[in-house]
Formats: sequence, C-alpha cells, structure tokens
Amino acid sequence: MENYNKLVERISKISKLTAEEIERKVEAKKAKLSGLISKEGAAQIVAAEMGINLDMERLKLSEIFQGMKRANVVGKIIDVLSIREYNKNGRAGKVANLRIADDSGNARVVLWDTNHIGLIEQGKIKKGDVVELVNANVRNGELHLSSFSDIKISSEQIDAVVSEKVFETGKLKDAKVGQNVRIRAIIVQAFEPRYFEVCPECKKRALEGECKTHGKVEPLKRALLNIVLDDGTSTIRSVLFGENINKLGFTDEEIFSLEKFAEKRGYLLGEERIFYGNMRNNALYNTMEFNIDNLEGIDIDALIKEIEVKV
Ligand SMILES: [Zn+2]
Repeated sequence: MENYNKLVERISKISKLTAEEIERKVEAKKAKLSGLISKEGAAQIVAAEMGINLDMERLKLSEIFQGMKRANVVGKIIDVLSIREYNKNGRAGKVANLRIADDSGNARVVLWDTNHIGLIEQGKIKKGDVVELVNANVRNGELHLSSFSDIKISSEQIDAVVSEKVFETGKLKDAKVGQNVRIRAIIVQAFEPRYFEVCPECKKRALEGECKTHGKVEPLKRALLNIVLDDGTSTIRSVLFGENINKLGFTDEEIFSLEKFAEKRGYLLGEERIFYGNMRNNALYNTMEFNIDNLEGIDIDALIKEIEVKV
C-alpha cells in the first residue's frame, strides 16, 4: 500500500492532476484488465500512457521505495560509514557505505563499483558534499549503486537536512521490507538470548577474539534477543540488541545468564511497547524481520491525546 500511495503522489505531482483523479484512472485501468494486475502495476501503466517517465524523475529520499531499479536522487553526504573488503562465495571486492540526506529524509547508500569507491578513497567525494545518484537500486530502504549507476558531485545546495531516522507509524499487515516503522505491539513469544563478540575499537563482529581490521583483540560480549510481536493486524519475528533488552526490564546479569533469563522470560509475554525499527529481509529464511532500533513504554496521556485529536 505504501508503494502505491507514493506512486500516486508522484504521478499527481508530475501530471498536476489530483490524487483522486489518478486513482480513478488506476481503478479504470485495473477494471479494463479484469483486475489481473496490481494497483501499483496499473499506476505504472497510467503514468506511461500520460507520457510520464517515472524512471527519469528525480525523487526525494522520502519517496524511494522497495524494488525501484533506476532511482535518481540528490542528497548531502552526512556520514561516510565504512569502506571494507569482502570475500564471499569466491567473489572478492570492496563495498562502501554512506548516508545521504535531503529535506525529506535520509538513506544509506551502498557503493559496489570500484570506480565509485575510488572517488571516496581519493577524497574527491566526501562528507558534506552534495551528490547526485543516478540509476540506483532500492533494496531494504538502501540505495545500491552498481557499475550501471553513477555518483557525482552536484552543484545544488542543500541546507536543511533531516539527519535523524524517520519512522512512519504503521500496522504490521502493511509493513514492507525497507520501511522504518513505529509500531505499538505486544510481545507474544520470546526466545533465549544469543551471544556474540565484538571488537572493542570498531564494534564490529569479532570471531574467536579476532577483528578483521584490528587483529587480536579482547572482545566485548554482546547479546541479541528474538521476540515475536503482534499488533492486532499481524505478527512478526523481531530482533533487538543490548540496551534495548535492558529497556524491557532485564539487567545485564539476567541477560548474560540463560538460567536467570529463563526465570524472568515469562514476564515478557503480554508486555506492550512502542517499537521503532527497520523491516528487513531475512535472507536465510526469505521472510520479513523487524530489526528494533529503539523502544519505549506506552504513555497513556499521549495516547489519550492522540485519540482525542482523531475524535
Ligand atoms: Zn575492530
């Protein structure tokens, strides 16, 4: 649904027709094709028939959506996160991560092309620069640049940027991979915590006391917890880490002892919170999973206000 609404909004903006008019055209197109097409598909056809090339249109970062193959955006680099080497399934190369922002939101950019990565390494593209991305693929809410894509310095100026993550209040049944969402939900299942070790310097995974960047280190112990959330519309397997487990009422001692954790686990079931996080594709199971960034208790006063406003 999210994709469809964004699509209608974009077509409306470019065509200067109202969203209602676009939706009427989409419904008519769907009916004509005996309903054998999704609303999104019908909207794409409607756009094409009006001579609108959605691929060429520049998007705001809040308008990108999962599965786009040729997204064009302009944003300011607010962070160069990492450049690292990988060697997976016999393929070796480099991958770089940036975060760009505009006045509507922000997104992670993943560079896979050595020429693009070279621009970062040589300092030709750096934090604070405004860049134009051409032909980016959108996956998990990230903009991926391959050798068919381009990144270049833009002459545009962007002053006000949204650098905090933007969360949309949503329902689980409508959630899509890549979305940052805020969901009010109840914990209906909790598994045992799992433990792993990270490098004390870069906080990345350390396997058997060894960091890929920093070599032999005295690793820090970390915990992750899988839970299942239910918001009344659907359920989702979710994962949370470290201090977010503390926020559910567990001390570090209780988190790092399976016995102590088990004694208290039952207390979690039925607990209601507001969860903030990102919907990701779990590649192993090919299912959607909720990666929790933050959580907070239910503020009854604020909820009542929200309801009053709606009434
Ligand atoms: Zn390290």
